[in-house]
Amino acid sequence: MELRLYDTLTKEKRPFVPLDPKNVRMYVCGPTVYDFAHIGNARPVIVFDVLFRLLRHLYGADHVTYVRNITDVDDKINARAARDFPALPLNEAIRKVTDLTERQFHEDVDALGSLRPTIEPRATEHISEMRAIIEKLIAGGFAYVEQDHVLFSPQAMNATNSILPRYGALSKRSLDELIAGARVDVAPYKHDDTDFVLWKPAKPDEPSWPSPGGIGPPGRPGWHIECSAMAWKHLGEQFDIHGGGIDLVFPHHENELAQSACAFQADRMANVWMHNGFLQVESEKMSKSLGNFFTIRELLEDRVFGSNKWHGYVLRLSMLMTHYRQPIDWTVDRLVDARKSMRDWIDTAYGADTNVLVPPSEIISPLLDDLNTSGVVAALHALNREARNRTNIEAAQKLNSALRFLGLWNGEKTDEIYGYGYEVGTGPSHFDVEPLLEARAAARARKDFRESDRIRDELAAMGVTIKDSKDADGKSVTTWEIAR
Ligand code: AMP
Ligand code: ZN
Repeated sequence: MELRLYDTLTKEKRPFVPLDPKNVRMYVCGPTVYDFAHIGNARPVIVFDVLFRLLRHLYGADHVTYVRNITDVDDKINARAARDFPALPLNEAIRKVTDLTERQFHEDVDALGSLRPTIEPRATEHISEMRAIIEKLIAGGFAYVEQDHVLFSPQAMNATNSILPRYGALSKRSLDELIAGARVDVAPYKHDDTDFVLWKPAKPDEPSWPSPGGIGPPGRPGWHIECSAMAWKHLGEQFDIHGGGIDLVFPHHENELAQSACAFQADRMANVWMHNGFLQVESEKMSKSLGNFFTIRELLEDRVFGSNKWHGYVLRLSMLMTHYRQPIDWTVDRLVDARKSMRDWIDTAYGADTNVLVPPSEIISPLLDDLNTSGVVAALHALNREARNRTNIEAAQKLNSALRFLGLWNGEKTDEIYGYGYEVGTGPSHFDVEPLLEARAAARARKDFRESDRIRDELAAMGVTIKDSKDADGKSVTTWEIAR
């Protein structure tokens, strides 16, 4: 059977044919490094790690190049650096923030059983490639300079009569619609509302680099150009798979595609565009800006979300139980389910070692069908039943190598996977505690101390201890923990 993958651009599931089977090339947009990643950010990490493992199995471990970038130039990074290291020069402070966050990210994704990509390029180390692409775009008439900015013109792109893809093709938006619906944030340096920034001037104390073509004072790149530059440097003008979360389709990937296709006069950037669905909380995307998030770290380490500590393998399985293109509703029940499956499987597979780690066809077949991981989970349950009901050693060995191949287990038994010492689902969760904390803060604000004490007692009865303190800016904060 052959590998078939769904392509966002053509909206069809197609047989995957690598440009060069000796070097299969995949690019996935990585994190902006200023803070701990949340569990929604873990979804593309896990999904594309499974694809990476499958590609290595099909083409050989030395014949797959997986690039996942690190975005280390961003306003949020600058703000965090100024806040956390006010005594340092901004550039040094930024390096501290990005190094620390990168390390935390690596620890988290290692714990989730994901392999490191082949290359993890940093945006700031690819400024000359960005400048080179921008210069090509200006020379080709696709970009223009205005008030020390460089802007890309989608209208110029679509006005050319060539092999180039149409702007809007990836996200299924017509340029006319985009023009009509353009937001009113009209910038004085934009000729048209649909134009987007390739390069902009830096503020006086911000990191900056010489401008492309010497068009103006030192400046800094726009977000989209980073990925076009890093993909070009490490994977060439065209490559096989470009991935990320569904929120990146527009504008990020649409703009990457526009930049790369116009710079290299090509009809495509990648052969297949793949996007994972959202991890949602109460039908909304989990995100930093909505505040409805859990970091990977707090789920791994602390007693939150059902007052349990969740092992990385359990978190990984909870993600793979759903097909990658479907949304996931993030609930504690899902984690409890995943943990139960892990316990059952490990009980069966432990000790059923095989010398050869060949993943069984039972899990490869569903993976070949557009990474059908929910089919894989069904196959793992079937192998487990087979091994248990018929004391079938071969099935136990298959289960063992399947779990290891999928990055779901390292072959060892640890209490943490089992969750021993942590009663499943019995403790209060964030969802129970946070509304009470809010009600208590409101009561305190209106000086209703009787009510605030009553709520404190209610929390204590749930086994929750709270602590009031002040943060660095002198604002009151209340933290809580489960009394031990
Ligand atoms: P960001 O740091 O927001 O640029 O996101 C890094 C990666 O995580 C991108 O591929 C996003 O598409 C993805 N992502 C962010 N939030 C979610 C979510 N709630 N569910 C699934 N993927 C997400
Ligand atoms: Zn990108």
